[in-house]
Amino acid sequence: MKIYEMTYSEIETSKDIRPDEVLDAFYNRITDVEDKVKAFISIYERRENPKTKPKIIAVKDNILVEGKKTTCASKILESFIAPYDATVVGKLKENGFYIVGKTNMDEFAMGSSTENSAFFPTHNPWSISRVPGGSSGGSAAAVAAGEVPLALGSDTGGSIRQPAAFCGVVGFKPTYGLISRYGLVAFGSSLDQIGGFARSVEDVAKLSNIIAGKEDLDSTSLNNSVEDFTRLLKRPIKGLKIAIPREFMSNALDKGIKDQIEKTIYKVEDEGAVVEEVSMKMMDYATAIYYIIAPAEASSNLSRYDGVRYGLSKSDPSLKHQYMKTRDAGFGPEVKRRIMIGTFTLSAGYYEAYFEKAQRARTKLIKEFNDVFSKYDYIVGPTTPTVAFKIGEKVENPLQMYLQDIYTIPANLAGIPAISVPIGIVDGLPVGLQIMGKRFKDAEVLNLAYAVEQMVNFDYTGGMKKLDEGLGDEDEK
Ligand code: GLN
Repeated sequence: MKIYEMTYSEIETSKDIRPDEVLDAFYNRITDVEDKVKAFISIYERRENPKTKPKIIAVKDNILVEGKKTTCASKILESFIAPYDATVVGKLKENGFYIVGKTNMDEFAMGSSTENSAFFPTHNPWSISRVPGGSSGGSAAAVAAGEVPLALGSDTGGSIRQPAAFCGVVGFKPTYGLISRYGLVAFGSSLDQIGGFARSVEDVAKLSNIIAGKEDLDSTSLNNSVEDFTRLLKRPIKGLKIAIPREFMSNALDKGIKDQIEKTIYKVEDEGAVVEEVSMKMMDYATAIYYIIAPAEASSNLSRYDGVRYGLSKSDPSLKHQYMKTRDAGFGPEVKRRIMIGTFTLSAGYYEAYFEKAQRARTKLIKEFNDVFSKYDYIVGPTTPTVAFKIGEKVENPLQMYLQDIYTIPANLAGIPAISVPIGIVDGLPVGLQIMGKRFKDAEVLNLAYAVEQMVNFDYTGGMKKLDEGLGDEDEK
């Protein structure tokens, strides 16, 4: 097995790999495939050989690394240099991690395909004419392509889980509040969560152990009640109770994906877990709720980009015109759309009709989750309604793009832990299973994900092989 195909844990435990070999393997892999994948916005120059085996990781470009550019894939921050490390980055550094660069994303994490990057789109290693998903598409593609064994992303409505599903890797969004958001550029503050990508469930669990923890600089940071994310990985799943919402298996779901999900459910039942269908009526409203709340929070968070404090500045004798010129030149179309929706729904005349109503509906949705979780340990279903789509296929239709997240958004609205784990292939492209759990039951979520991973035995190197064979290129003709 080549070093770049190995998981983080395999590299850590292997006795006969030298530190410089690890660096060589990943830097060479990046050199070999990055032209095709375009997962990175910045790749850091190789530093001198470390004495111990480097723990290679990539970081999404909305998370601050001191002294380095943090662009959020936006022209407005194109030349912005982070003045300090995000808390998660500080923890990585303290634990001997080696950051190789910053990954591409949808501008300010708004999107589901990484096509909203102001710089270039990222390509899916399984088929380079297709999107890697988004918004953390660069992180997912980098892990799938073998450029890194681990990456950090952020998930506001599915931005870790959806690209993980599209790229055939594991993506985990822990319970809201378990990982500090300090140094993550804010999008929707009540929804945003940092999490990890890897090519094994064990790896994301270990990465979560490093980056989680209570901290005062983020006022929503909570006491870490999950003392060890890996602690239940190998627990047998016999007797665990799993709910499948009927609403998740409806007509919106691609037939091939539905078959894969059902096949996996049968295997889970064979291991002795109890699986039952439930109805969760609020799930049908989740996307509508999200597209009121997320843009409202975004419009407020993004008001700080005024051409005075950060990045791009288009000067004008009139301060108002300076704001307007800077924001007009600096923000892309999707970001402008969100800001307009957000300022509209928060405006005096419409606040009650939209924002307040959405907040009430969010509370109802949380109640529905609580009801189901009073009887079941898990809620399981698809991560995405389709497999990875073609680059350009949905750019003209924002509503179509928003529907990518119908299954992932509910977990953000409720603040619960959720993971996507690959379970198979449809039309040559990976399919993800989503597992959601109760708040703070992150170790339990990883437990079921690990069990599923053992059952399906997914080939995480499939994307690397296809990339090397140039199969994706054929697709493009
Ligand atoms: N695709 C969703 C959006 O565009 C979610 C993005 C995210 O999780 N950051 O808002």
